[in-house]
Amino acid sequence: MSVAEQTADAVVVGGGTVGAWCAYFLRQAGLARVVLIEKGLLGQGASSRAAGVVRMQGGTQEAVRLGQWSRRFYLGQRDEIGTDSGFTEQGYLLPCFTEAEVAAAHTRMEMQIALGVPVQWLGPRDVDAANPTLAPGQTLGGTFCAQDGFIAPPRNVAAYTVALLRSGVEVRERVAFLGLTGDDTASGSTVETSQGRIGAGLVVLTGGPKLAAVGRLAGLRIPAGGVRHQVAVTERHHDLDPAWVPMVFDLAAGLYWRPEEGGLLFGMSNPDEPPSENREVDEGYLAKMRARLAALVPVTAGLGLRRVWAATIDYTPDHLPIIGRAPGRDRVTVASAGGAGMMWGPGVARAAADVALTGSSEVLDVSPLGLDRFDEAGHSRLATDPIALPFPERIASS
Ligand SMILES: Cc1cc2nc3c(=O)[nH]c(=O)nc-3n(C[C@H](O)[C@H](O)[C@H](O)COP(=O)(O)OP(=O)(O)OC[C@H]3O[C@@H](n4cnc5c(N)ncnc54)[C@H](O)[C@@H]3O)c2cc1C
Repeated sequence: MSVAEQTADAVVVGGGTVGAWCAYFLRQAGLARVVLIEKGLLGQGASSRAAGVVRMQGGTQEAVRLGQWSRRFYLGQRDEIGTDSGFTEQGYLLPCFTEAEVAAAHTRMEMQIALGVPVQWLGPRDVDAANPTLAPGQTLGGTFCAQDGFIAPPRNVAAYTVALLRSGVEVRERVAFLGLTGDDTASGSTVETSQGRIGAGLVVLTGGPKLAAVGRLAGLRIPAGGVRHQVAVTERHHDLDPAWVPMVFDLAAGLYWRPEEGGLLFGMSNPDEPPSENREVDEGYLAKMRARLAALVPVTAGLGLRRVWAATIDYTPDHLPIIGRAPGRDRVTVASAGGAGMMWGPGVARAAADVALTGSSEVLDVSPLGLDRFDEAGHSRLATDPIALPFPERIASS
């Protein structure tokens, strides 16, 4: 159907978890006509390919608040929309292997506890007891939050599809965003799409790993990138019963795992991987992932893999989200979950909707998180989130 010369109160670009939940929240806030444009199909970007880890144990106050908000949202979805993203409260352990990691973990815990996260310190023996599949005697202890967990990413796509349709957002799949004009005026902008123009009061730009390209189409420089990330799922084993296996993030190695259908789902980012779109499995790096996992969870050494995939994950140079109005353009808002869209996505989406509507949000103080924190070269004035995958700290072109 042609969308030529239509009008909308808001147009949201991108049908991933950030754009879709944002469109839903804009509609819930009372906008009569919200249009979501997606150049392919809902969820076909990073959002359907993720591992689903949701953690409140963030490395910064912003990360904690977004994790808390998103987890609460996941828990309340069934009442709100009649379905859910499959949030499972599994418990998440972040083990420490050096004294420096122990010190950093204690500092982080103080900040997290002050914000209301029920995180606790487990000594080395408690770590081994809490996770009998972990090779014993490996850690110096670790932080544990029983309320952290994971969602099922394809189920999240299904949940937001239901929410969009039930709330009356107009979903336009296979419609590409091509550009934006008139967005420096007070009356709104014209969104150019592959199926004509839409006059829009408000515009929200998302795009996950493609956000920089979406920004360029709108005349904006957005320092966001994409890089390959691999995930695999082992065969089943009785020792990997979900009742005994918390999720674990081996932060120094960038390796995480969680239970999945009687086996383990594990993912790891290669810190030496240059930014690019890439969905080919890197067998050499997969072997490294398997070796690190087998050293920590010996039972996995003899297990085959049931699934392996690689996909492009979004990141920002400081590994923090982008939530803010485009500089000098009050009616254009930019949103990125910075590679943590399962953990932070609904919170980022809600904050972006709030910012689009009012300029601020009760989810968190977004004032440090706008595009104005980056210099010309894409360097951020904020410190890098210390609890993140080992993402690149530069975008491809800088
Ligand atoms: C393998 C993998 C594992 C991950 N694991 C986790 C995890 O465990 N926990 C976690 O928190 N996060 C995880 N992530 C990150 C998370 O998936 C992303 O942060 C999140 O999905 C980003 O959502 P998004 O809506 O911003 O982007 P996307 O889901 O990529 O959606 C953006 C959409 O914009 C569309 N688009 C792009 N350009 C245009 C255009 N010009 N016009 C119209 N539409 C356009 C795309 O087609 C796409 O559908 C993982 C990611 C990957 C790849």
